[in-house]
Amino acid sequence: MKVYMDRRGCNVWDAACESDLSWHIDHGTYCTACTLGVLKDDSEDVTLVITDKDGSEKVLVVTDKNKWEIMDSWMLFLEKINREEKDVKV
Ligand SMILES: [Zn+2]
Repeated sequence: MKVYMDRRGCNVWDAACESDLSWHIDHGTYCTACTLGVLKDDSEDVTLVITDKDGSEKVLVVTDKNKWEIMDSWMLFLEKINREEKDVKV
């Protein structure tokens, strides 16, 4: 399943949007303020395609392995990924 979100259109403050998302991942519904659409496909994983507030696109694949970390704070999780990507480039 793919979930497209545009956080530029989200009028919910970050912490609420974030904690909402954790809840939503578990319940299969998403932040109505910024979710553009949900595309059902054959994949068991949930892929979040997030356009962040600065306009950059972030792709987050939620698997059983990382789900709890993402649910704890997907923003921190994204920051971690971004850091690791930078580390790889350097
Ligand atoms: Zn939102």
